[in-house]
Amino acid sequence: MSDRSLVCPVCGPESGSASERGPLAPYRRCTRCGLRFTPGMREPGAAFYASSPIYAGRDERTIARPEPSWAHEVALDRAPPGSRVFDVGCGDGAFLALAQQRGHRGFGVDHDARAIDAARSLRGLHGVLAGRVPEDLARVAGAPFELVTAFDVIEHLGDPVAVLRALRDVVAAAGRVLVTVPHAERRPAWFDPRVDAPPHHLTLWTAAALRAAFLRAGYAEPEIMEKPLAFEDLRLHLVWRRHGPNPPVPRAGLRERFDSLRARVLLVLSRASGRARGQMLVAVARPQ
Ligand SMILES: [Zn+2]
Repeated sequence: MSDRSLVCPVCGPESGSASERGPLAPYRRCTRCGLRFTPGMREPGAAFYASSPIYAGRDERTIARPEPSWAHEVALDRAPPGSRVFDVGCGDGAFLALAQQRGHRGFGVDHDARAIDAARSLRGLHGVLAGRVPEDLARVAGAPFELVTAFDVIEHLGDPVAVLRALRDVVAAAGRVLVTVPHAERRPAWFDPRVDAPPHHLTLWTAAALRAAFLRAGYAEPEIMEKPLAFEDLRLHLVWRRHGPNPPVPRAGLRERFDSLRARVLLVLSRASGRARGQMLVAVARPQ
């Protein structure tokens, strides 16, 4: 393919891509692995994230009201006792704090220096630093790690395979790397278009694309899971649609109760139809 901006960032030029309607902007869909990707795969840079309403007030909110996370539990299920756990895009350290409560040692990196300050001062996490991946991985102490995680990170990055390769370099030979990504084939397909649109999400993933990315980055065959569609996934997207991706919380008005009711009904109908698909994919793999 002559136009490099239309080349699948997982499969490379040997695969083709087709135009597809995307949230607020067109996507390409890889004809081989099904990855939805933004033409050019250009990351928006720090200023975009610093000014994005999606992240405004995030640290205060998640520290005040930590939410149980299915993906965090999946990850900790795979950590042997006393693991060194490294979280890429650790934010304010919600996952690392949970890992430390379970007897592991937490390390992490995030591009947001404010979130790192919160992780240190409010959660007492000292193995975290502000930096970028893969450039700043060498500065992180504690490698090799028994568990390396990247929750909802690689869909924001311009070269996801290069990032997976960099994570392979810091994971122990018998350790595991776990990533979560937005599922391109989720159903119902609701998702706040502002959250999904490029340049925020550069990619939406299929199981085939995730598998191909791990194999290309030098891992053994990955285990791939789909997060079961849950009430909270649907409720949250109704709230986002009403208030935007940074809703005022907590609220418990009539509208919120109506959204909860709609989410419950929709969940029951989706499950009964047999067509429900989860919003998130998880891949776990050992380095090869
Ligand atoms: Zn592809």
